Amino acid sequence: MTTKHVLVTGAGGFIGHHLVNHLVGKGYRVRGADIKRPEYSETEAHEFLVADLRDAGHCAAATDGIDDVYHLAADMGGIGYITGNHAVVARNNTIMNIAMLDAAKDAGVGRFLYSSTACVYPHHLQTSPDAVPLREDDAWPAQPEEGYGLEKLFTEKMCEYYGADHGIGMRVVRFHNVYGPLGTYDGGREKVPAAICRKLAGIADGGEIEIWGDGRQTRSFMYVDDCVEGIHRIMESGYAAPLNLGTDELLTIDELVDIVAETAGKTVRKRHDVSKPQGVRGRNSDNSRLRQVLGWEPSCGFRQGIVPTYAWIAAQVNAGRAPAGRPRALEKAG
Ligand code: NAD
Repeated sequence: MTTKHVLVTGAGGFIGHHLVNHLVGKGYRVRGADIKRPEYSETEAHEFLVADLRDAGHCAAATDGIDDVYHLAADMGGIGYITGNHAVVARNNTIMNIAMLDAAKDAGVGRFLYSSTACVYPHHLQTSPDAVPLREDDAWPAQPEEGYGLEKLFTEKMCEYYGADHGIGMRVVRFHNVYGPLGTYDGGREKVPAAICRKLAGIADGGEIEIWGDGRQTRSFMYVDDCVEGIHRIMESGYAAPLNLGTDELLTIDELVDIVAETAGKTVRKRHDVSKPQGVRGRNSDNSRLRQVLGWEPSCGFRQGIVPTYAWIAAQVNAGRAPAGRPRALEKAG
């Protein structure tokens, strides 16, 4: 059997870095591409291209000789970052996604997996903490997260069109909050589990941390090992329509804080700041279709996955590592 050549974009980022190592372990020949190299640990990719994928020439170099593309690169971050940078985020991702689809078509790529997000789901279905789990079909009629979510929903449709018109085997995966070691934990792009781990690692027992919102907003969280396993299974599934990839273990943010505090062996005082962005009120994943398509779903509970995550972030904080030196916002094209 000949070795498949695969491209992982966003290979310098959190999920992409883990995915590269997972695919290398499975015997693929892996090329990583990103505007920056991984910040916290060396890549295992056979080749790593430092490339700005808003540039068509860089996309052509990245896709040359590639069988399958896992397109994870995106200008993204936690709720503060994506709600504070609508224009830059939507612009960067639109340019990059169209350039990548064109390059995949021109290079004769067989399969293309696009990393979408639960932020595509309509606001009006997410107004209560008792979130009714979101089914794939709920995305339309649309009322997604401004900027980041709207762009993802548009690119989902572009994937459908490129698949139909150009014969590329498309996969569209809607991730629900992913966490784990080697993820951004400071600098403004971190997401809630990493931010809470960092805050708890930085206080003494009995100390106080700030929590965005009233703490009663809800989410589900997926450990990164489940995420990369799911990504590969979806690529192999032959299923072209959007699929949720997440857990359906719903937690309030206060419950999440309590679990991290328990993991850290600390008691904590919570100071809620309702002036800070908190996103939708409640969001959960309906995994019925995922189970139907794959006969599998993520299984790592938050209490289990947060143990290695907290240990890694606490080690970074205790070692006094400088804030992640990534570009704040990718403002210039080319
Ligand atoms: P990340 O920010 O760690 O990784 C994204 C990577 O894309 C970064 O390394 C960044 O440098 C790279 N990138 C951005 N602009 C680029 C450009 N112009 N050219 C080349 N590379 C560029 O994020 P992540 O958490 O690993 O997310 C990966 C994918 O999953 C993204 O598409 C994201 O939208 C999606 N997603 C993630 C989550 C989550 O909880 N982490 C949830 C939903 C969706």
